[in-house]
Amino acid sequence: MTKSKKGILDSSLDVIGDTPLIRLDKVAARHSIRCNLLGKVEAYSPGGSLKDRIAERMIDEAERAGELVRGQSTIIEPTSGNTGIGLCLVAARLGYKVMIAIPDKMSSEKVTVMRALGAHIIRTPNDAPSDSPNSNIGVAKRLVRQVDGGVMLNQYTNRHNALAHELGTSVEIARDIQFSLGHDAIADAVVSGVGTGGTITGVARGLRTHNSSHSPTNGFRDGLFVVGVDPLGSSLALPESLNGETHAYAVEGIGYDFLPDTLDRSVVDVWVKTGDEESFDCTRQLIREEGLLVGGSAGSCLAGALQFFRTEQGSAISQDPSKTVVLIFADSIRNYISKAWLVD
Ligand code: PMP
Repeated sequence: MTKSKKGILDSSLDVIGDTPLIRLDKVAARHSIRCNLLGKVEAYSPGGSLKDRIAERMIDEAERAGELVRGQSTIIEPTSGNTGIGLCLVAARLGYKVMIAIPDKMSSEKVTVMRALGAHIIRTPNDAPSDSPNSNIGVAKRLVRQVDGGVMLNQYTNRHNALAHELGTSVEIARDIQFSLGHDAIADAVVSGVGTGGTITGVARGLRTHNSSHSPTNGFRDGLFVVGVDPLGSSLALPESLNGETHAYAVEGIGYDFLPDTLDRSVVDVWVKTGDEESFDCTRQLIREEGLLVGGSAGSCLAGALQFFRTEQGSAISQDPSKTVVLIFADSIRNYISKAWLVD
């Protein structure tokens, strides 16, 4: 599944994935972190997020199964934007029409990119519960029934969502750590924001498979400690008592008021809850101090990691120079250019 970007590439699809793993030394120094702190920077994918990977894989597999036919099928998907951009990009290259149902809250930049790629966009109210017919999920389901040749790949239930990360993202992380830190080096911990849960589920499974074959000595489950980041206002974290009331928040792409099938919460060792302010503050730190042009949920990921590092378990990891921690940065500044929080 991992790609080589050397030489002449066949198409834009060959640029998907194989994103860089980058040291966060300045952020680590500012917060007195002594472990290897690394960011997996998915902004470098052509659609600007980790969702390009799942879009490509879900379309490939649906074509293989005969569910999608080029020139005939219309792809219809509910999304917070990044899956939509990924689907529109792959669909543009392969010759599919796309309809996207997206809540009003999501940035106009995402919608403009999808329109530019030729998609038909339907905006849905932010306050519609996920199980209501007016939510983006409800609207997409209705369109699939109404549109001739309409197919919903459904990132919330599709097993190729997590598989794209198990067979792609995690393999790249393990490979790059070994390349730079030595054959026996592994990721000891991973921190990821959670939306559909495909990323954390797939990366955790993939890295645990890899680590367990390296006789890990860190004492973690199959050699990997997994931290899930859920925004305040969402209800994905465990124990349930962490969550409180569901309410609106500004960070895009993470958190839900229902449990997606694609999220396997058993892979997560500890959950942390993050607020908008700390998330956007951390995004600005990543941009200004590391020169990484990442989006808001990358800030949530860093904010969640910093909260974890303040716990006893977390500080034992963050203060150990022999440990390696990977933060997954899901998308790019390009989705948020008009947002005031970027330059506050
Ligand atoms: N951050 C952003 C900006 C996203 O769009 C998403 C995907 N919804 C995520 C994080 C979380 O990824 P996943 O759906 O794989 O949990």
